[in-house]
Amino acid sequence: MSARLDATPLSGHTEAPLVDIEGLARVFDLSKRWLNRMLDGSGKVTLTAVDGVALSIRRGETYALVGESGSGKSTIARMAVGLLPPSAGTVRIADADIWAERSAARQRRIRRQIQMIFQDPFASLNPRWRVGAIVAEPIKAFGLKADAREREQRVGELLSLVGLDPRDAGKFPHEFSGGQRQRIAIARALASEPDFIVCDEPTSALDVSVQAQVLNLLRDLQQSLGLTYLFISHNLAVVRHMASRVGVLYLGRLVEEAPAAMLFAQPKHPYTRMLLDAVPDISMETVEREPIAGEIPNPIKPPRGCHFHPRCPHVMERCRTETPPVYNAEGTAVRCHLYAPEAKG
Ligand code: SF4
Repeated sequence: MSARLDATPLSGHTEAPLVDIEGLARVFDLSKRWLNRMLDGSGKVTLTAVDGVALSIRRGETYALVGESGSGKSTIARMAVGLLPPSAGTVRIADADIWAERSAARQRRIRRQIQMIFQDPFASLNPRWRVGAIVAEPIKAFGLKADAREREQRVGELLSLVGLDPRDAGKFPHEFSGGQRQRIAIARALASEPDFIVCDEPTSALDVSVQAQVLNLLRDLQQSLGLTYLFISHNLAVVRHMASRVGVLYLGRLVEEAPAAMLFAQPKHPYTRMLLDAVPDISMETVEREPIAGEIPNPIKPPRGCHFHPRCPHVMERCRTETPPVYNAEGTAVRCHLYAPEAKG
């Protein structure tokens, strides 16, 4: 099912979004080979990792996607940057549908516009290349500076921009700390002069002491360069620090979306409340929340109706069979039958 769970109309913004995702779905086929299935009589097995997600991100905004492991966050990130084709739906950046674009020139422009920062900076940097070559590669690939001296100068500027020394261009990735390596990865991401960057758990592999420095760098760069971020994280303290809007994912579906301040002050969906309860260092004194037991169900056989119903303390009969539509609950878009007009009486 595709339903727009998007606070944009609720928050009164009319500006066209830079990123517009509609009806996005991804189904993985986990079946055994055809011959094995014939021999043991088993059927096809599929996993719906992302189920009809719709969201939009305005220019200069940080949209955070949160949810437990297996909620579909990283699958959405990979479809949004063009690394994984969707089973259904569209991803539009500015005026281009990134998965339907046929013109080679426009495809190239899209690839330049979108970059990704990964969780593990060491794995994302070629260990055999010097930092200068790593950062210069997108500049060369997209023909942004034809002259080698100009490229070298640009690499120096980018390294300075992320708080490194231009002379670091001559070193190899293993000569740097984890935080510095993530700065190199950020410099490389900036090298193509992108508009939109997907940050997939960009600080979760780093020491706590350097996490804040890297997050502050990302925020400063956003302000100075007008960047738009899709920020993937399981860490709600990080999300609160970074996000202007937050979408909460549960088993591939967006279940709540709101401006960050509103979501942290007044979480609506029972699952969002459970996530916030699980974070001891976030002060939420004004909100009454109930701890919810249980684990995320097997995504190969998700529960019918509302996927969250086996864990929900407010479960009603209809929750077991009817997928909740999106309701507007005081400015929050929430997919829960508790917010149906008839449920409020
Ligand atoms: Fe709970 Fe029902 Fe709302 Fe799902 S729809 S979160 S089961 S109350």
